[in-house]
Amino acid sequence: MCGIVGYIGRREAAPILLEGLHRLEYRGYDSAGIAVPHRGRLRVTKAAVRVDELRDLVGTGLTAKVGLAHTRWATHGEPTDANAHPQVDEDGHIAVVHNGIIENAEQLRTKLTADGVKFTSETDTESLAHLIARALRDGAASLEDAVRTTLREVEGAYGIVVFDVRKPDELVVARNGSPIVLGIGEGEMFVASDIAALVRYTQRVVYLDDGELATLGADDFHTSTLQATRTSKTETMVDVADEDYQHDGYDDFMRKEMHEQPDAVRRALVGRLDERFSTARLGGLDLDPHELRSFRRVKFLGCGSAYYAGQLGANLVEEWARLPADAEPASEFRYRNPVVDPETLYVAVSQSGETLDTLAAVQELKRKGGRVIGMVNVVGSAVGRECGRGVLLHAGPEVSVASTKAVTNMCVSSAMLALLLGRVRDLSMAHGKRIVAAMAELPDRIAEILAAEAEIEAAAVRFASAEHMFFVGRVRGWPVAREGAQKLKEISYIHAEAYQAAELKHGPLALIDAHMPSVVIVPDDEVLAKNIGTMEQIKARGGPVIAVTNAELPDGLADVVIRVPRSEPELDPILFAIPLQVFAHRIAIHLGRDIDKPRNLAKSVTVE
Ligand code: GLU
Repeated sequence: MCGIVGYIGRREAAPILLEGLHRLEYRGYDSAGIAVPHRGRLRVTKAAVRVDELRDLVGTGLTAKVGLAHTRWATHGEPTDANAHPQVDEDGHIAVVHNGIIENAEQLRTKLTADGVKFTSETDTESLAHLIARALRDGAASLEDAVRTTLREVEGAYGIVVFDVRKPDELVVARNGSPIVLGIGEGEMFVASDIAALVRYTQRVVYLDDGELATLGADDFHTSTLQATRTSKTETMVDVADEDYQHDGYDDFMRKEMHEQPDAVRRALVGRLDERFSTARLGGLDLDPHELRSFRRVKFLGCGSAYYAGQLGANLVEEWARLPADAEPASEFRYRNPVVDPETLYVAVSQSGETLDTLAAVQELKRKGGRVIGMVNVVGSAVGRECGRGVLLHAGPEVSVASTKAVTNMCVSSAMLALLLGRVRDLSMAHGKRIVAAMAELPDRIAEILAAEAEIEAAAVRFASAEHMFFVGRVRGWPVAREGAQKLKEISYIHAEAYQAAELKHGPLALIDAHMPSVVIVPDDEVLAKNIGTMEQIKARGGPVIAVTNAELPDGLADVVIRVPRSEPELDPILFAIPLQVFAHRIAIHLGRDIDKPRNLAKSVTVE
């Protein structure tokens, strides 16, 4: 969420910065801005506009070879021109762009105001610009020192880039809880909050750690801690290409990424299914069988769709490993002073690996001696590094705010973990064999579902005018219902609620009428008869039923049937979630929604 781009080198900075912002647009933002030196002074252009409009406002004729830019996702103060970043100090020398939240902003503002500083915005960020300017006036030896002095006074999460127009040959960067990555070029350096902004220019990157600062020149950089101790960094090559951030013939990223799912799942499975021993091989876990057997519980932690994927994973762990397992929103976990059990395996699930709540949950776990593994899509991300071991999702870069291929790979990866835990316990070789075979076929089954996009669309369009919808599932179908409702909400803005099927009669049934369609998840499993009963209850009250099923249903029970191919019953939920993505997507298209920029949302949630 929100974006930072900085450049220092030999080329014109403004076009590179604007292009970088454009690459970060998918993350969601409400205003944008850029600052470059121009004839010895800072030229700041910022407004509550889209990046394209900012480009027009910036115009041409800026020749600066250094600068910084930002897309803001407001936390302190409305999305106005004044609140957009870069924020500057009173003399207009220092420009700061910031992602995150300064928690003691109010105290800093009160103190600075008492000292006579005039604020021009409502942001928490502005205090940083004033404090850095003051530190320089008070004799800080360098911009880096001034930033360091300032950050020692600051509480909260930040990724920042700072520029002093009087020292145009350097940028100072710092990170605490909000991602920052440096990009290394030939005679030029980049900085961004997300590699998407960089991959067009370089594949060589360095990830900053929390509590670290970097000073960048055109030809080099150095890093240090807030305590001024030098740190040494290892450069990594990102294997992400510019095309991953292009529409590639599709109208939107969500559809492109839905259709990438067969390949994404194939990548997640490659080399990880062990047919000989009917288990999964997860090298990154770094847990030997003895350790794997030592766990007495498993708990998945995630936010939003990652939490629902964790719930699906927890069900599989219970089914196959017969270990008690559950999932919990990471945000709840971190704040409720959790009991951290040394015999529990904790699994932190996050597409970006930068989700602040999940990262904080991991840190809390580690502080209390918990054993935690990561399940992330981005190599080198904060959750990945903090956990130090885990299962990489291999979904490839996901741009769409509404997650599809990453969630599917979370489910597949959780299934592999559950299989592995099962096979070091009592899951039989024969049962494991069936699962391994069915997993290997998932990519083809997913492709079949996507090939029926037009049929799902026909069903979807019939219900596009609904104001509310229920998603109903039981047992294996329950996380699917939650994820289906989530997808519909986030991109179509139709109010959708998920219920466990049996819960309907304890209250929500009162809402059923001809205007309340219910999407019912009906796998052909042990609870099929129960689900048929649920559909009958809905029909009896005049509610339209959309059945998502791989079973033969009695005639006339559902108004619309969305068919899903068969697999092993335990893997049904992975497949059942796919048509619901298509369902939500087609409804949103029909309603003319901006699929890639759903209102109020952002891609990776790096704030509280
Ligand atoms: N907290 C800052 C603001 O409201 C930064 C928000 C962001 O991360 O974009 O301006």
